[in-house]
Amino acid sequence: MHLSAANHRIPLSDGNSIPIIGLGTFSEPQWTPKGVCATSVKVAIDTGYRHIDGAYIYLNEHEVGEAIQEKIAEGKVCREDIFYCGKLWATNHEPEMVRPTLERTLKILQLDYVDLYIIEIPMALKPGDKLYPKDENGKWLYHKSNLCATWEVECHPYFTQPKLLKFCQQHEIVIVAYSPLGTSRNKTWVNLSSPPLLKDELLNSLGKKYNKTAAQVVLRFNIQRGVVVIPKSFNPERIKENFQIFDFSLTEEEMKDIEALNKNIRFVEMLTWSDHPEYPFHDEY
Ligand code: NDP
Repeated sequence: MHLSAANHRIPLSDGNSIPIIGLGTFSEPQWTPKGVCATSVKVAIDTGYRHIDGAYIYLNEHEVGEAIQEKIAEGKVCREDIFYCGKLWATNHEPEMVRPTLERTLKILQLDYVDLYIIEIPMALKPGDKLYPKDENGKWLYHKSNLCATWEVECHPYFTQPKLLKFCQQHEIVIVAYSPLGTSRNKTWVNLSSPPLLKDELLNSLGKKYNKTAAQVVLRFNIQRGVVVIPKSFNPERIKENFQIFDFSLTEEEMKDIEALNKNIRFVEMLTWSDHPEYPFHDEY
């Protein structure tokens, strides 16, 4: 399939399509000044991104909505050009809560539909006003839920997910890779003893060969094998850099060499919830 900056949607089995690169919008709220998210989404849309990955729990969904509205009002895009993925947070897993929670997200976004709505994490927390509910002893308040849907999958050269990718390809399921650059290495949820992906020697030497950065090489690797990527950046230069991945391609041998970097390292282990009865990462995928 030929992917280009102007046309990089890939088909979904229901007749819809999804842009193969999206802007990730998670950024630690206490370290992110107000307005940076909105500005970044606008830069991304101007750059050519048409897929935005957001969530209520990121606490900046209103800024994402504002930015999309502004670009629609400017005539830069229309609603149908944009693919927005929203997420159902863990305290809202009860079936009767799904619709009102989605409606709240639509109101925040000022949109009348989202293109994709996924279960953010496959483990429920106690429903209620608290987004991260704990008891008086600081113990997480878990909740039993009945999951029958899918959720996003971490995927990058240190965690290539060959088994899952093969299964999904056989069943015509498209994978969306979160943390495609190896995360922001936030010490509150990433194990910092894991090797930083973008410092990898092979990725950097391939970058040199193509006059690209290691980040562009890892993104190209995933889109070239049909995996959608949602790199997060709130830096205008890097937002643009991450989109410049349609003007080069990796050889078959280079793709294999990158695949061989797989170390089964999951950067986002969610260890804080590892004793949750539904903790998903004890299983192999
Ligand atoms: P990414 O792998 O996208 O990495 C983001 C980090 O890389 C940021 O610190 C960013 O900094 C930096 N960065 C961006 N571009 C470059 C570049 N070209 N060169 C060097 N550094 C760069 O991590 P995320 O974990 O944020 O994953 C992406 C998105 O996936 C999220 O934002 C969210 O939308 C979604 N997601 C993430 C989940 C998670 O648990 N991590 C779970 C579910 C969804 P800067 O902004 O300064 O450029």
